[in-house]
Amino acid sequence: MAEKGKKRCSFCGRFEDQVALLMTGISGYICNECVEHAHEILREESLLPKSDFEMTELPKPKEIKAFLDEYVIGQDEAKCALAVSVYNHYKRLMQRDACDDVEIEKSNIIMVGSTGTGKTLLARTIARLLKVPFTIVDATVLTEAGYVGEDIESILTRLLQVADYNVQEAERGIVFIDEIDKIARKSDNPSITRDVSGEGVQQGLLKLLEGSVVNVPPQGGRKHPDQKMIPVNTRHILFICGGAFDGIEKKIAQRLNTHVVGYNSVQNSHQIDKGDMMRYIAPQDLRSFGLIPEIVGRLPILTSLRPLDRDTLRNILTEPKNSLVKQYIRLMEMDGVKLTFAPDALDYIVDTAVEYKLGARGLRSIVETIMMEKMFEIPSSGVKSCKITKEYAKKQIEKSTSIAGA
Ligand code: ADP
Repeated sequence: MAEKGKKRCSFCGRFEDQVALLMTGISGYICNECVEHAHEILREESLLPKSDFEMTELPKPKEIKAFLDEYVIGQDEAKCALAVSVYNHYKRLMQRDACDDVEIEKSNIIMVGSTGTGKTLLARTIARLLKVPFTIVDATVLTEAGYVGEDIESILTRLLQVADYNVQEAERGIVFIDEIDKIARKSDNPSITRDVSGEGVQQGLLKLLEGSVVNVPPQGGRKHPDQKMIPVNTRHILFICGGAFDGIEKKIAQRLNTHVVGYNSVQNSHQIDKGDMMRYIAPQDLRSFGLIPEIVGRLPILTSLRPLDRDTLRNILTEPKNSLVKQYIRLMEMDGVKLTFAPDALDYIVDTAVEYKLGARGLRSIVETIMMEKMFEIPSSGVKSCKITKEYAKKQIEKSTSIAGA
């Protein structure tokens, strides 16, 4: 008989060539499908180990905001919007389990603010609190299928990886898409040329935002053409987008200008804070910037981040739970050294960041430059304390050439 000698699953009896995988045991075999069935039975009997993403209690929006406050200075508006949308995301997931008949739709969120104002920090911080898979992806690497770069689907590869390839978990995750403004349509006339990183990518992204079943390459990229795609339903995945939208202030000003003409116009134009146009941002500004209306419609929560002023930068240096200053103090503590910064040294650091227009992003490189020599010398010097004065900080910065070019 032809079947004689062929390996077969000891549970369902199927032959090796009838299944995707046949695993060998001491005195028998088991196929991939029987493993899946066994897994299902274990789940039903609650015998599976607890998942990392199991939700025990629902953090309330105020608790989420309080947690964000520990790490991120200011940006209250964005924090509240994030807290509410993440809270609702949790509720929606719980409702799904309860099979309710009023289905709550998800509210994806978009944060607009210049670079270094804390968009990514907010996203990262919220990830610490979350009990759902979370990943950050960069929209700049996305291109339409067929072009060099990453396909849209690869956004979900990272989520699957974080969820340890548990599709059910990934389907309730949160994705932060950074630099969403980089896929805005470059020209107002969509038909001029094919816009590789523009409208086509937005159309692809729209599919994800709306909720659909997407075939995800488990290894990502196109380096593994033979990989078996994993279908993932994005209906319950929450998308948080962030972007600097450089120059959008002009579009906001244009819109406000046309609106304030007429009744009450003089009064209204006085109320507008010209230094912070971003706070008046509205969905139509995103459209004028080059996002297609469908995408804007799928990002119903729009919030903006404030530019960081001198006081905020000063607070960022010292206040957050893991502030830069606290990090250096801890580093030195490990060598048994008590590190202190003179207040005017901190002011000097902030002034330098403002001068170089590096915002909060620059603080780290400035402190790094100031501390480098001490970090090199102190561990083998036997000193027990170290104070950073303004004079010392200034000397180190003036000696260095690396920051000015940063
Ligand atoms: P963005 O994503 O808006 O470009 P980031 O979140 O990456 O900016 O911020 C860069 C760095 O600046 C962060 O790692 C953080 O140290 C600091 N930072 C920026 N904004 C804040 C803030 N509001 N509170 C505390 N730290 C901040």
